[in-house]
Amino acid sequence: AKDDGGNEHRSYEPSLHANAEERRQLEFALRQALEKSEIELVYQPVVDSRTEAVVSFEALVRWNSAHHGPVSPGKFVPIAEDTRLIVPIGTWVLEQACREATRWPEHVRVAVNVSPEQLFEPDFASAVVRALTASGLDARRLELEVTESIFLRDPSVARASLEQVMALGCTVALDDFGIGYSSLGYLRKISFSTIKVDRSFVQGAAQNSAESLAIIRAVVAMADSLEMTTTAEGVESAEEAELIRKLGCTKIQGYYFGRPMQADDALKLFRRRRAD
Ligand code: C2E
Ligand code: CA
Ligand code: CA
Ligand code: CA
Repeated sequence: AKDDGGNEHRSYEPSLHANAEERRQLEFALRQALEKSEIELVYQPVVDSRTEAVVSFEALVRWNSAHHGPVSPGKFVPIAEDTRLIVPIGTWVLEQACREATRWPEHVRVAVNVSPEQLFEPDFASAVVRALTASGLDARRLELEVTESIFLRDPSVARASLEQVMALGCTVALDDFGIGYSSLGYLRKISFSTIKVDRSFVQGAAQNSAESLAIIRAVVAMADSLEMTTTAEGVESAEEAELIRKLGCTKIQGYYFGRPMQADDALKLFRRRRAD
């Protein structure tokens, strides 16, 4: 029994150590990622649920590390947030996304994810102004996506910061709705333009989960009465798109209408449409 315990211990410790070591190495590489131009953006279309026309693109960050290869945002964004590297990375994302959007038709908007670390920086609104000014993008074409987690931290600072960017003409979307903090009070206080229904509910509804269907219906009804629109995330098939349209979501995002793509491919989407 003694030996077994020893073996168990030996096989457990190295993996724990490997995780901490991997994280340390990723953090080290991430510190240089921006200057080495390893960070880039891909763009995923969001369509009108009725007409299926592209109304916006969500900018999604990618890291192609020379040392580690492609690292998913699910892995490196949390590290970037812990180390506050998300602040310079987020600023770059904002500037790059605005620049790229100026190449699209004027009715097409761009959505940029904003981490709480960025939002709580005192000069967040100035960073948005700089991105708009440098690119020449009309503020009304920029949407910022935030998650409910901002309200856990400091609701009044979050609200003040969002009101500053809304005063510029930008809109704000509430991302990943339903999976986090569950108090709805803040929905009355902040004029979100859009509530993004998390993919887990869309997948649940597609599998006939009564709970997921009820939640989507409730979110749509609530958004309607608050004069907000809804975007369903993670729609992967024609059947799911039809279900979501019937449930009354305003917009749809998901692999069925387009995977995140390179900027040039996003641009081709319009070139092709125009030539048709
Ligand atoms: P998110 O903001 O909820 O972004 C949507 C994620 O769902 C993206 O993953 C997208 O590729 C994925 N997705 C879209 N449609 C489908 C679908 O039909 N099926 C499935 N299975 N997945 C779909 P991605 O690009 O890996 O990003 C993951 C998360 O990383 C994002 O979730 C967001 O929280 C964060 N993130 C991405 N880019 C940025 C950024 O520029 N800044 C910050 N702060 N966070 C970012
Ligand atoms: Ca998002
Ligand atoms: Ca989301
Ligand atoms: Ca999500």
